[in-house]
Amino acid sequence: MSFDHALEGALAALRDGGNLRVPRTIEALGGGWVRIEGRDVLGLCSNDYLGLAADDPRAPIPEGATNGLRAVSGSERGAAASRLVSGTRPIHRQAEGALAAFTRTDASLLFSSGYAANVSCIPAIAEAGDLLLSDSSNHASLIDGCRLSRADTIIFPHLDLPTLQERLTELAPRYRRTWIVTEAIFSMDGDVAPLSDLRRLADQHRAFLYVDEAHSLGIRGPEGSGLCAEERVRPEVFIGTLGKAFGLAGAFASGSTHLIRWLENRARGFVFSTASPPHQAAEILVAIDRVRHADAARAQLLSHTTRLRSALAHLPFALVGGDNSAILSVIVGDPHQVMAFTDQLLERGVFVQGIRAPTVPPGTERLRIVPSAAHSAQDIDAAIETLVSVLEAPP
Ligand SMILES: *Cc1c(COP(=O)(O)O)cnc(C)c1O
Repeated sequence: MSFDHALEGALAALRDGGNLRVPRTIEALGGGWVRIEGRDVLGLCSNDYLGLAADDPRAPIPEGATNGLRAVSGSERGAAASRLVSGTRPIHRQAEGALAAFTRTDASLLFSSGYAANVSCIPAIAEAGDLLLSDSSNHASLIDGCRLSRADTIIFPHLDLPTLQERLTELAPRYRRTWIVTEAIFSMDGDVAPLSDLRRLADQHRAFLYVDEAHSLGIRGPEGSGLCAEERVRPEVFIGTLGKAFGLAGAFASGSTHLIRWLENRARGFVFSTASPPHQAAEILVAIDRVRHADAARAQLLSHTTRLRSALAHLPFALVGGDNSAILSVIVGDPHQVMAFTDQLLERGVFVQGIRAPTVPPGTERLRIVPSAAHSAQDIDAAIETLVSVLEAPP
């Protein structure tokens, strides 16, 4: 059988199981709306929490944020090589300094994506003879980072601190170093890790803490500086992404100066990868400023989720998240049914993507509903009306 023939069969099996994914083409986005096949629909499935991904082009660039943009020549399109090879630009360092200050850490290092950051940083900090204790709901990039590292990995049940404590007591003494790896707000369940408790457990067992703030940076903490800042917890490694609340792309690791020096030498997604274009680093400076001044947007965002949560509470589906985070999941539990809901909602002008395995465990297929601060109260009212009418009458 040819490889292509085998693929055809494998794709048919995915389709029959309700698990074939096809990226949907959208023609435009902005203000919490997306255009699909010429029709504007409410977008409730991006991570553009603060509405910064597609800014109103008429909005002025915030004061103090223009220096970075001016420092980059308009004719420069790419960075041309890894920063270790062809040199780092002042704008990269400037962005990293600003990200470190923003996250209350000593230093930061840019990566081309959050995926690259996690698959690079975990193998850089944990090697053979070390132990990684990883939450069972951690993002694929954290899972893959653990797999790529030569450390032993043990998955603990989601947010189960007693089990984590047992593992630490039993196993940490047998390893050179032990790491607890967690998200701050979990991407699919929208629930919040008890970072202070995790820090305390780590300290009690001489373990270290690795926190991925992909869904809390820009949302929680003073000026959106994250959940670690809010709880005054200092992890040894802090990961922030720039493709979500920041509305850009890319990511960064933060921590001590020594950590960042080490990552510059050992994080393979930094060492062996072309630096992000200088103009992108300049945009980070602008975005930090926008995020810092977005208190009203943060309040608006969380109030949207709270309203969605209470309006959907009577439906015959379990709801997870949406409590102090912007992510609310309606657990449907079947891949065919969740995609039927997605299609019906889209027909009625609301775009909510069905989330299936392997992104979530089979049997927990869900509608992951994420509003944006760019939505108005009326947008949310309209979304609620449509969601309730579709979900009250399962297909
Ligand atoms: C989205 C996400 C990432 C990946 O970030 P990208 O910049 O999109 O590659 C990493 N960690 C978590 C928890 C995420 O949700």
